[in-house]
Amino acid sequence: MHPDHLTGRVGQVTNQDTDGHRPEPLHTDSKLGRVVVSEEALVTRVEELGRQITADYLDRPPLLVGVLKGAFVFMSDLARAIRLPVEFDFMAVASYGSATKTSGVVRIVKDLDLDLSDRHVLVVEDIVDSGLTLSYLRRNLLARGPASLEVCALLVKEGLQRTKLDLRYVGFNIPPDFVVGYGLDIGERYRNLRRVCVYVGEDQPRPAS
Ligand code: 5GP
Repeated sequence: MHPDHLTGRVGQVTNQDTDGHRPEPLHTDSKLGRVVVSEEALVTRVEELGRQITADYLDRPPLLVGVLKGAFVFMSDLARAIRLPVEFDFMAVASYGSATKTSGVVRIVKDLDLDLSDRHVLVVEDIVDSGLTLSYLRRNLLARGPASLEVCALLVKEGLQRTKLDLRYVGFNIPPDFVVGYGLDIGERYRNLRRVCVYVGEDQPRPAS
């Protein structure tokens, strides 16, 4: 059985896709605030990133390392925008500390299957907030001896990074609100939203301090 918010059986379809054929999965609650990145902007920017990565990696197709779960939607679109024989691997991490504040101490919940030695690794991240998760990941992956390691982050929250980040590719710089959609969730919801929106529910995480 499908939840109503996916089948479109409840509410009115007000958020049609730009071509009018594929309606946005309906999320009929009122916890979605303003659109931070539209579907159209995502499509355009992901294509641009794909072109840039294709040009940069022409002679050394990268191994894409996706950070689960949030990056799976971005990674899927980005990979198809890269015109090279890329390979894929995934890892899942969990942050120690509260659910809403990154402590910087990260536990690997699912490790990579592949050996990174001499590989050109491109880490694909959904969102960088404090940057602590990414800086842990970078250290951890670099210790495995890749030929190169770069990061492609779809979203970077302005001004919140507690550590200097070296991000080769960035999709969008966004304000420091809690956002959902295009892979990003709250309590596993909204990942299939086709745009990125501010989450305005009362249960929204407080900003990291
Ligand atoms: P950082 O270590 O950079 O503070 O946190 C990165 C992780 O926190 C992301 O990979 C993501 O899982 C989560 N995160 C940070 N900001 C947001 C947000 O606005 N929305 C969602 N859904 N997750 C976020």
